[in-house]
Amino acid sequence: MCLKRLDIQGFKSFGDRLSLELNPGLTVVVGPNGSGKSNISDAISWCLGEQRPTTLRGSRMEDIIFAGSDKRKPVGLAEVSLVLDNTSQIFSLPFNEVSISRRLYRSGESEYFINKTPCRLKDIQALFMDTGLGRGAYSIIGQGKVDEILNSRPEERRSVIEEAAGIVKYRHRKEEAARKLSSAQQDLDRISDLIDELA
Ligand code: ATP
Repeated sequence: MCLKRLDIQGFKSFGDRLSLELNPGLTVVVGPNGSGKSNISDAISWCLGEQRPTTLRGSRMEDIIFAGSDKRKPVGLAEVSLVLDNTSQIFSLPFNEVSISRRLYRSGESEYFINKTPCRLKDIQALFMDTGLGRGAYSIIGQGKVDEILNSRPEERRSVIEEAAGIVKYRHRKEEAARKLSSAQQDLDRISDLIDELA
């Protein structure tokens, strides 16, 4: 999968609009300490639906909105968009490019978009499930993450392997089917009780 462009505005240290065009191959971001390198990977995680402020190195989600600098006032809205190549149809959408956007207002209101059409967080999560890029996938390895994976419990490590193997989607579908089956069984039991009462 190829990330073609990243647009960031009002997110963490990026008060002004930043548009990064990414070409196939390796991209390296270099800069002095505190210049915002990790904020770029935070922006990608956040746009993919990250809900935990601590994973984004903050204590509240509002911390991701640009809080102002010596030269610039704070802003009221953070917005990040990712444009991904879809020529190999990795996403089941009939477009050669797929864009994902997320906005957060200081009021706490959030908005999500797929190809500029408003959608739910759930839709974004479903789109990325098993592509290896979704929230919780291991395509973004933050500082300390390698140690965390090596020291994790076997069942946690198994979920890493499941995500990489692309079987998470089927586990979710199995759980959903089991829930529906259990609900159908309860309906059947209820009908059976009614039949017994009427007999
Ligand atoms: P290092 O090389 O030390 O890991 P880095 O280049 O990865 O640093 P980041 O951690 O990405 O740097 O950026 C840290 C900077 O982002 C700090 O200067 C911090 O003040 C700024 N920052 C974080 N959140 C906000 C915010 N909401 N508003 C304004 N600036 C912010």
